[in-house]
Amino acid sequence: MRCPRCLQGKLFRGLMDMWEHCPQCGFRFEREPGYFTGAMYASTLITLPLVFGLFGLMWLFSSRTLLAAEVLILVTTVLTLPLIPLIFRYSRTLWLYFDWRFGPDRQTEGRSGTEEFRPS
Ligand SMILES: [Zn+2]
Repeated sequence: MRCPRCLQGKLFRGLMDMWEHCPQCGFRFEREPGYFTGAMYASTLITLPLVFGLFGLMWLFSSRTLLAAEVLILVTTVLTLPLIPLIFRYSRTLWLYFDWRFGPDRQTEGRSGTEEFRPS
């Protein structure tokens, strides 16, 4: 997952730990407090098809009873929980790219985020 501006700098330095700025071009990823709240939309777009697809697929091969539905909900939850870090990373990345592409202030000074940072 790379910086939306230079397409070279890494977004994450750990599993769920983001750089504040792009290590290559200095682009500030979290431009304001609460910036990544919008990543919840991306997270929903990723998670809903995954969860319902997984459940639906297992439902097709189940006995289709109430008990089966309850078990499948539990199984779907157990199978989906380990994917949370992956979903977190992709949702933030999608949000950054969406904002980079369609954000209202792409060309303004605030967008560059390089004022107080110089990459080494
Ligand atoms: Zn960059």
